[in-house]
Amino acid sequence: MLLSDLSRDEVSRYARHLIIPDVGIEGQKRLKAARVLLVGAGGLGSPAALYLAAAGVGHIGLVDFDVVDVTNLQRQILHGTKDVGRPKIESARERIADVNPHVELTTYQTALTSQNALDIIGKYDLVVDGTDNFPTRYLVNDACVMLGKPNVYGSVFRFEGQASVFAAKDGPCYRCLFPEPPPPGVVPNCAEGGVLGVLPGLVGTIQATEAIKLIVGIGEPLIGRLLLVDALGAQFRTVKVRKNPECPACGTHEITGLIDYEQFCGLKNNDGRSKMDDVMPEITPSELAERLRAGDVELIDVREPHEWNIAHIPGARLIPLGEFPAAIESLDRTHDIVVQCRSGVRSANAVRQLQAAGFTRVKNLAGGILRWSDEVDPSVVKY
Ligand SMILES: [Zn+2]
Repeated sequence: MLLSDLSRDEVSRYARHLIIPDVGIEGQKRLKAARVLLVGAGGLGSPAALYLAAAGVGHIGLVDFDVVDVTNLQRQILHGTKDVGRPKIESARERIADVNPHVELTTYQTALTSQNALDIIGKYDLVVDGTDNFPTRYLVNDACVMLGKPNVYGSVFRFEGQASVFAAKDGPCYRCLFPEPPPPGVVPNCAEGGVLGVLPGLVGTIQATEAIKLIVGIGEPLIGRLLLVDALGAQFRTVKVRKNPECPACGTHEITGLIDYEQFCGLKNNDGRSKMDDVMPEITPSELAERLRAGDVELIDVREPHEWNIAHIPGARLIPLGEFPAAIESLDRTHDIVVQCRSGVRSANAVRQLQAAGFTRVKNLAGGILRWSDEVDPSVVKY
């Protein structure tokens, strides 16, 4: 390879790569020719995008449908305070162009779906999965297996993270490790359970490292291994992940097309309607405010005590979701009950528990305390 394949500016810019014997001009040219798709411009996608751009990955694709929210800024370092309310791909585009103007960026302001995934992923050499939900993870996995594209996986929760490389040639896939999604509501996401802001920084940076290793062809990628990151214990461990010959994606190849992943993950009924909309009796914040003024409803808050201390609705009674099953018998089933959490997911879980216990006069506060803050009492702090 000739030095002249890189411009003068590129030679200067990548000088610290070019003097590493294992990377050199050849490696830098591979990075320049590489096409990497990032799914999600959030906590994992932010550091991954910044480091891949800085490293000189020539083509980056970015899929994200969301807009920047102030609660994102604690960890999503692609976006700044001035970007709140803007589409994430817009702030990402500006930031990436500033980090490295040599990068060609293609943005997709959409959710990755079963309809568009093969088309989008097909245009890239590998995928960095920065999604935060199970349906999209299975979707990315299955599409990568079908297309033969490595899937650099990462996930974070509170103080713990995971990373691996799935769907590489002869390596296992996400389904080999997790054949079945967890039951809905059992594994909280970061919005419900929280995450230490620096942790997606760590894990997303590991994903970028793995992507660069795969592109340049150096080192031992995390193929067949799951890296477990324990931020509190300051421990990194790897466990072996074996390819499952019975895996319907990469083993038997019985999955030949993308399916409805919301339904697969139990978030939808067979008729395609969202389970959250179905049979979930709801009350709006303004309706609840009236009922509370009239004093004819009991409001149960199923969040955690530290969330209660941030903000709560006057008149609510705190029963954290973990203690909820034991407290059900203390509730009066002849009274109207409204259950509330932060955004309405945990409280829907509690409503189902009450319904299962035979309660009929029970409703979920739609949108939780966040929507209460928007529509009834802006003095209630959003978090
Ligand atoms: Zn598999």
